[in-house]
Amino acid sequence: MIIYYEYYKAGKRMLKFKNGDLYIEDVKFSNIAKEFGTAVYVYSKNQIIKNYDAYKSVFSKNEGLICFACKTNSNAGVLKILSALGAGADTTSGGEIYRCLKAGFDPSKIVYAGVGKTSQEIEYALKSKILMFNVESIEELDAIDKIAGKLKVKAKIAFRVNPDVDPDTHSHIVTGKKGSKFGIAYEDAISAYMYAKKKKNIVISGVHSHIGSQILDAAPFALAAKKIKKIVDEIEKNGVKIEYVNSGGGLGVKYEKSQKALFPKQIADVIFPLYKDKKFIFEPGRSIIANAGHLLCKVVYRKTSGGKSFLITDAGMNDLIRPAFYEAYHEIIAVKRNKAKKVKTDVVGPICESSDFMGKDRMLPILKQDALLLVTCAGAYGAAMSSQYNSRPLLPEVLVEGRKVSLIRKRAGYEDLILNEA
Ligand SMILES: *Cc1c(COP(=O)(O)O)cnc(C)c1O
Repeated sequence: MIIYYEYYKAGKRMLKFKNGDLYIEDVKFSNIAKEFGTAVYVYSKNQIIKNYDAYKSVFSKNEGLICFACKTNSNAGVLKILSALGAGADTTSGGEIYRCLKAGFDPSKIVYAGVGKTSQEIEYALKSKILMFNVESIEELDAIDKIAGKLKVKAKIAFRVNPDVDPDTHSHIVTGKKGSKFGIAYEDAISAYMYAKKKKNIVISGVHSHIGSQILDAAPFALAAKKIKKIVDEIEKNGVKIEYVNSGGGLGVKYEKSQKALFPKQIADVIFPLYKDKKFIFEPGRSIIANAGHLLCKVVYRKTSGGKSFLITDAGMNDLIRPAFYEAYHEIIAVKRNKAKKVKTDVVGPICESSDFMGKDRMLPILKQDALLLVTCAGAYGAAMSSQYNSRPLLPEVLVEGRKVSLIRKRAGYEDLILNEA
């Protein structure tokens, strides 16, 4: 029998087969397909809560803040779950700050990173009274200082320091290595703080680092934490007080059976002991939402070509770009348990690009036309990265809690495709 990751455990089953049907919480995927059509994104509320609790539980002694990296999934229904749990938000644009405020996040729990914050975005963030800016260059600091002066407010900042560590992950999602566009170079961090100290409208509040994404090993976090601690010691000697140590996000999840997820406690264990008097911020994205969301789609056609077997689905790379973009793996499951012979199959979408696939060389049963497939673990960087490429309207999103099913984004129509066009 196939085991579907850590959530397929006694008592905590968000995905399970019952009498041959795959369920999410207490709802059959086939019923979701009947009600909302396919393709559709489906999320488990209880899985989101469980993932959030794994972070919350590490804060028994230390005061801390869990800022959900909302670029991973910025659906209002998802954000509202997290704001209600007391989470903060890690944002990367004015638009994300707007979404988070609308979803009820306390502005004093919002942090704002990004290498290219525009003056409009900075002004909007200051007027919204967010907790702090994670500043990525000296020119950005100057801009924030100037705009804060104009608005007669003080801007709280942390520098995003690039600790120059190389986590073992896909090259597109490494961010904390020397030569990356992100953050302040490690060797320039101290002088950046000394410069910021002299700025009239800037209040230094923290230090920030984010080394990459889908990291499955605690070692690069430990190395980054030690390097950041050196910076903190040095600048505190020079009269700068650091209140918050923000270690970013990046904890990897289990997409494949051979992988082992990295848990918040493993990161806390390498960071917290370094400090006596700090507040800690985590910015988890993927590890909160990836395994809580799945893409339900159906087989439109089947064919064999060049000795290969293909299933062509109604979901494409515009709906889930991770396989094309990062060569990402998502386990694909037939939603009806099927005893038919398994054959090596490419699961592909309908888009005019050869990189449009959900999975290659998968052992799947010979399915009928209209059979349902679940592309698992697609909650992070799934719907959030979707587009209308090939003029395909955006998909609906559905939230499941126990037996309850709510539509949290309706299916777009053809009229939406030309909405803002002249
Ligand atoms: C993307 C991002 C995160 C979240 O990364 P995950 O791998 O999804 O946890 C956190 N912080 C910053 C600054 C980011 O850019």
